[in-house]
Amino acid sequence: MPNNVVAKSLCPYCGVGCGLEITADNRVRGDRDHPSSQGMLCVKGATILESIDKDRLLYPMVRESLSEPFRRASWDEALGRIASRLQQVRLSTGPDAICMYGSGQFTTEDYYVAQKLLKGCLGSNHFDGNSRLCMSSAVAGYVQSLGSDGPPACYDDLERTDCAFLIGTNTAECHPIVFNRLLRHRRQNPSMRLVVVDPRATITAQAADLHLPLQPGTDIDLLNGIAHLLVGWGQLDEDFIAHHTTGFAAFAETIRHYPPEVVARRCGITIEQLEACARLWAASKRVLSLWSMGINQSIEGTAKVRALINLHLLTGQIGHPGSGPFSLTGQPNAMGGREAGGLSHLLPGYRFIADPAHREAVEKAWKLPTGSIAPQPGRTVWEMILALEAREVEFFWIAATNPAVSLPDLDRTRRALARSPFTVYQDCYYPTETAQFAHILLPATQWSEKTGTMTNSERRVTLSPAFQQPVGEARDDWQIFAEVGRRLGLVEQFAFDTPASVFAEFAALTAGRPCEMTGISHERLRQNGPLQWPLSSGSPPSTASSRLYTDHRFATPDGRARFAAVHARGLAEPPDPDYPFILTNGRLYGHWHTQTRTGRIEKLRRLHPAPFIEIHPRDATQLDIHDGDWLEVRSRRGTARFAARITAAIAPGVLFVPMHWGSLWADEAEANALTHSEADPDSSQPELKACAVQLVKV
Ligand code: SF4
Repeated sequence: MPNNVVAKSLCPYCGVGCGLEITADNRVRGDRDHPSSQGMLCVKGATILESIDKDRLLYPMVRESLSEPFRRASWDEALGRIASRLQQVRLSTGPDAICMYGSGQFTTEDYYVAQKLLKGCLGSNHFDGNSRLCMSSAVAGYVQSLGSDGPPACYDDLERTDCAFLIGTNTAECHPIVFNRLLRHRRQNPSMRLVVVDPRATITAQAADLHLPLQPGTDIDLLNGIAHLLVGWGQLDEDFIAHHTTGFAAFAETIRHYPPEVVARRCGITIEQLEACARLWAASKRVLSLWSMGINQSIEGTAKVRALINLHLLTGQIGHPGSGPFSLTGQPNAMGGREAGGLSHLLPGYRFIADPAHREAVEKAWKLPTGSIAPQPGRTVWEMILALEAREVEFFWIAATNPAVSLPDLDRTRRALARSPFTVYQDCYYPTETAQFAHILLPATQWSEKTGTMTNSERRVTLSPAFQQPVGEARDDWQIFAEVGRRLGLVEQFAFDTPASVFAEFAALTAGRPCEMTGISHERLRQNGPLQWPLSSGSPPSTASSRLYTDHRFATPDGRARFAAVHARGLAEPPDPDYPFILTNGRLYGHWHTQTRTGRIEKLRRLHPAPFIEIHPRDATQLDIHDGDWLEVRSRRGTARFAARITAAIAPGVLFVPMHWGSLWADEAEANALTHSEADPDSSQPELKACAVQLVKV
């Protein structure tokens, strides 16, 4: 440990996964030894300590109905109520009436124990994580094209690429340290090219060598159009296609329908821009594609991911240094959640509920009778909302996430949350917008007070040790789940005494799986620092491969990657004469999701004091709107109000609002009051990124 450093930790915000050092005088700085971040931090990581003791939920609270005030309760009373209610619902209505909605803020240990409790011991597969809103399209795309989840590339590739292709990601604001590494690489290698595909001229796009400001919902047109040109120019890796892929003929037939003049018109770009982009793909030996919510949050998110992977298969650019498809995870441990089975169709170790052999393997490991895990995948979070509406849910447990702001179609979401007869809400902070829908509040420790692991976007597992005492009576999430399991009589299954013992049981379940972590333990992470998977037991850390598929053998049964023949479907709700604008939304540099943490940090509040709406000068002139005017934005589901910010950074006909402001932080400025819940059929990820709206000057 360097001088003056009392603890090494991990930033709990985004999936970049930056290493932190906490100094003896209680300051935070970047950990130069952390391979992912190399000593860098953005403003969120740098100010993280200020949030620890603000508005913390200190002890359990209970109430009989939503109309009553909360009263303080002991842990014994709160957990007793939870256990007896679970037992009662299980025996009367059955496990299908029990749902849990968790979070990429969980440690892997939290995720794992929650899966064991819900899917194993209670027989309910209705656990979903907020990764459903974030990365589930990337998961489905990887599985369908490559045979398994897991980003093939790593951060080292940021410095080895000769062309970074960024699509649907405002990396400069949302994954700033990844972006810093890319810019540093370009400064040192001026021939490296940065392409940004985004309807907005974001800070990321402004740094690009080529910016394609395409119309929302036309990503597949663009990607198929690039493929069309590459095939026409003979710029494909025929040997790679012949030996390592299937499905090329159907793909080639599909992209025939995407000639440049059609693609350019649909995307709202010029043929020259399209050809310039395709030429960069053709001329570059190492193209690294980065994407995030702009691709995933769509009714065709999985198809978009697959269309992007197609380009890497077409050019053989995967499994090599500096190239490959690389999803940038939103939450700090969305990756660990996927590894631990933290979506409603998954089980630990990248296993699938629908696979009988996978269920059997997990039941055996959990010492449960065969058939304990239900054979049907559980409800996604939006299906939980629909089930609440239909009064099919009798026990709803929400932890470390704020769905009363982050889910789409908020009026409908809130009405559904209010129908729950019994909701447990477990979080670090109080108040939050979701707390008003709870019958029991449980105080959880946060990152500085608990020991656990998280996996970042490049499959790197970091141990984040506790370096402070919990505030009040807060407990670790995994401890709460385990204690409820023991109260339900499952003493052996939940006899964990430390987070290290939880991780050891989880890691054993990854043996032989694509995300093998049997070579990773808390002890090894303490000794060696952060480690990437796959790493098997007994292998020295130096043998861990930074990249997947270096031998071009993919995780499909025949070892070949799959081309996808996908056509563009466009937006679920395109603009029309009644709702003539497309509203998109996104994050700002200094805020995180619904501001549960960043809203309590003075410096970040000053950085982004208020929400706003971006509108193009042409549209502003037509509607006689001036900078700062208050605008009411109406969709078919709700309304919100924002001050106008007139800028040519947004295309005509498109509007942008930040997604961070819930009712706790501003009046009527919620992006999700306007969004719809239509979702991708493969990933069930809602199309949060686009809806049709009308504008009224207030
Ligand atoms: Fe934290 Fe992400 Fe910023 Fe790194 S880039 S300091 S992980 S918020």
